[in-house]
Amino acid sequence: MPIQIIIEKCTGCTLCLKVCPFDAIRIMDKIESSGLPSDRQSHKKAVIDLNKCNLCGACVPACKFKAILLEKPEVRSQKSDLRDYQGVWVFIEQKNSKIQSVSYELLGKAQELARKLHCSVSGVLIGHNLDDQLDELSWRGADNLYLVEAPEIANFQDEPYTNILVNLIQKYKPEIVLCGATAIGRSLISRVAVKIKSGLTADCTGLDIDPDKKILLQTRPAFGGNIMATIISPNFRPQMATVRHKVMLPLEPDKRRKAKVIRENFASTVYFSRTKLLDIVEEIESTVNLAEADIIVSGGRGMGGLENFKILEELAHVLGAAVGASRAAVDAGWMPYSHQVGQTGRTVAPKIYIACGISGQIQHFVGMSSSKIIVAINKDPDAPIFKFATYGIVGDLFQIVPALSKKFKAALRK
Ligand code: FAD
Repeated sequence: MPIQIIIEKCTGCTLCLKVCPFDAIRIMDKIESSGLPSDRQSHKKAVIDLNKCNLCGACVPACKFKAILLEKPEVRSQKSDLRDYQGVWVFIEQKNSKIQSVSYELLGKAQELARKLHCSVSGVLIGHNLDDQLDELSWRGADNLYLVEAPEIANFQDEPYTNILVNLIQKYKPEIVLCGATAIGRSLISRVAVKIKSGLTADCTGLDIDPDKKILLQTRPAFGGNIMATIISPNFRPQMATVRHKVMLPLEPDKRRKAKVIRENFASTVYFSRTKLLDIVEEIESTVNLAEADIIVSGGRGMGGLENFKILEELAHVLGAAVGASRAAVDAGWMPYSHQVGQTGRTVAPKIYIACGISGQIQHFVGMSSSKIIVAINKDPDAPIFKFATYGIVGDLFQIVPALSKKFKAALRK
């Protein structure tokens, strides 16, 4: 067992229980006996639930009685090989042969990291008929483009895309690989990490280079979002991270830039997939997609009920906006999770964010703080959202929102 309680030393003091972030320790009565029925005694002892414990080790130093034994597997170091790995790579995501905007955001960040490491930025593009988009990738930060094209890999599929990326990594040895924390990115890069036996930090909100050690500093919310953790991968290469859409800023296009294009071909076995793509069905949304929207109208607990979201949908319709929600509104079942904005929902960066009946807690703020203009509608003049709103309207949203819809309808002649 990788972690165990030494029963003889444990006093049942509960110190370990208090520091466990995963609620994996319980104090239970243990019966101890010398064998005689008259000699049965009950003692309180800590018990670890191995289904919840992730071996983080927080309990070990907390135990004053040295009663917790944690055996960490020895880290297999590749340190001698680390110098062979160079360059920052970005997996360029495409859907229907159209480059997804998260890739441009990652290229911008990759350029910043590469400047600090004095190396180049390369994009890896897999698909079919992508030539017309290579210039834009050059302009937005790619120094090199590894291009793998074939009809059978036109659309993302786990196995061939994983095989291709693994082959390229093994051949060219990049120091860092970045990927969008999208449905495709998350599915792909975890498979790649396992195959090349490297670490992976998912859902980063910040990336930087340690000025002394020249390693990637990968920052992301941890322990349910209560702390920001900076994670490093000192022993393995490449250092790999996924980053959420809309967290990093793309570079302004520089049309003087021209990336070197390296075309790669592989044996057909590399493109083999056990699954077959039958069809791609686009999600039909009644309003604009949240991640891409220029305007978002969001509702919180102040909306008071599912049916009241109709007034937000109407305003969104008039403005050509998407509808967002706070976690309180999602938890109440008024909006689906896919509309949640915030730390455990989506990160958005629209031109205008209209928050209706949302108090503005930090967990909501981190998901929408990059919005250019924030309009807050709240009946409480002391609501925290007014501290960071560009414009604040103090009043009842049930009067204000329909009035706005009416005015915008007239102004926009809708
Ligand atoms: P409340 O805080 O209850 O605010 C409701 C507001 O509506 C009040 O300010 C009130 O004055 C106003 N109001 C009421 N009636 C009216 C009216 N008629 N007219 C005008 N105003 C009115 N939250 C998120 O949103 N996204 C996340 O991703 C997220 N992740 C979290 C992760 C963790 C680990 C934790 C601990 C919390 C997270 N939360 C998240 C929850 C967050 O802390 C808040 O609880 C939540 O954002 C509150 O939602 P709210 O503002 O809608 O509700």
